[in-house]
Amino acid sequence: MTRLPLNTRITPSRKAMIDIFASTDHPLSAVQMHKLLKRLNINANITTVYRELEFLLNHTVIHKIDISGATTYYESSEGDHHHHAICTSCGNIQDVTISDEEAFLTNVRKPHDFTIKRHSVEFYGHCGTCN
Ligand SMILES: [Zn+2]
Ligand SMILES: [Zn+2]
Repeated sequence: MTRLPLNTRITPSRKAMIDIFASTDHPLSAVQMHKLLKRLNINANITTVYRELEFLLNHTVIHKIDISGATTYYESSEGDHHHHAICTSCGNIQDVTISDEEAFLTNVRKPHDFTIKRHSVEFYGHCGTCN
């Protein structure tokens, strides 16, 4: 919310999407967001959802995540640093954190004299439901 200009018009669908991103612990696709809005009885067609996603991206309220695949997923930009575990069976994506990540990154920096500017780490496998 803090990143939005003060004069931003907050429509019910925009507010709901901001709240959903803030309270969800995994990335969402446009279609998933559309379903969640429907469940909240918020009238927004898929075109509106895409337009609002574009708006939130432009204001860095959310960002796209780096995973391979046809579907684009979005998540809140407010969350703590984390990675993703992707189920190759049902497509479910969970946030995961790596404990002692600094030591992990040192393994990349040290032997190669490499300066890390950014990184993304994904894990592919089967979720608890698909196991
Ligand atoms: Zn990391
Ligand atoms: Zn699964």
